[in-house]
Amino acid sequence: MSVAVSLESVSCVFGHGAQAVRAVDRVDLSIEGGEFFTLLGPSGSGKTTCLRMIGGFTLPSAGRILIGGQDVSHLPPYARPVNTVFQDYALFPHMSIRDNVAYGLMVQGVDKATRHRRADEMLELVRLSQVGVRRPAQLSGGQRQRVALARALIKQPQVLLLDEPLGALDLKLREQMQTELKALQRQLGITFLFITHDQHEALSMSDRIGVFNQGRLEQVGTPRAIYDQPSTRFVADFVGAANVFDGARARELAQADSVMLRPERIRLGVADGSRLGGMVLDQQYFGAFSRLRVDWRGETVTVDLSPQAVPPAPGDMVHLHWDADAVHVLEATA
Ligand code: ATP
Repeated sequence: MSVAVSLESVSCVFGHGAQAVRAVDRVDLSIEGGEFFTLLGPSGSGKTTCLRMIGGFTLPSAGRILIGGQDVSHLPPYARPVNTVFQDYALFPHMSIRDNVAYGLMVQGVDKATRHRRADEMLELVRLSQVGVRRPAQLSGGQRQRVALARALIKQPQVLLLDEPLGALDLKLREQMQTELKALQRQLGITFLFITHDQHEALSMSDRIGVFNQGRLEQVGTPRAIYDQPSTRFVADFVGAANVFDGARARELAQADSVMLRPERIRLGVADGSRLGGMVLDQQYFGAFSRLRVDWRGETVTVDLSPQAVPPAPGDMVHLHWDADAVHVLEATA
């Protein structure tokens, strides 16, 4: 498979001197053609700046950006074979939905009949054939988001950049759109570069994920690798709940300096006075699971239990069990 987007030691620094902010710091990245790739990270970690550099809205301070093998580092946005869907949709309020979708073709000077035909095809693709004559204000948030998608896809970009496109939607609609977006991407085979700070969204939609932390790409991998084998403490914590042990405890568990155990990998047994005994501090019910906090020799351990299990009460003594492969060694912590 060919490489769709590559970043070669790309940095972006805003401001000068003491005020300088290194928003993106020597990032190397290679995204395959047809891949659904997600940049995941907390607010301010550099995801949007990275995407804006690929789209051409922000210029890198150093490094090269290639799309389809072509160096586009200094090309303006319109000259790049990419299109962007922004979180706020950026639809034109005074134009009909169909004209909004056809806008990119109008700018290119495509004739009206072709424009309308292509816009109607795109609206059908996003299941909005009925609303072409309406204005954006007459649509729901989810429908507006689909219009923004149709508008970005009409010019058949090689790569679609999506900056937190589902951020403004409520949870149910967001989940529905996640499924639709993923299906659409598969159907079209276009490379999607998606940004989110929501780990569930990233894990459920992506072929691969790149985790950002303070301008650096901390780990790139499949959702399963990122979740089961996080390389660092930051990634372990950011993509889910994690019990991290350092020092003597880590050496005892895996002869390492730092290890991680996911809460759902821990099981409970009856306390027998062995070294794995602990006392339940509290428990929270989440419907799909119950979360316990257990004091284990001075450390608080989080344990997730399936809803079938009757959770012990605070003050109860319990025995913690896990399979050997549940203990994952982390790289040295910062
Ligand atoms: P969010 O999820 O909140 O959008 P992000 O991960 O996308 O966050 P960026 O928007 O890329 O993060 O910001 C990275 C860093 O660069 C932040 O410290 C931010 O304040 C800074 N930054 C971004 N744009 C500019 C700018 N135009 N001028 C100065 N600093 C900026």
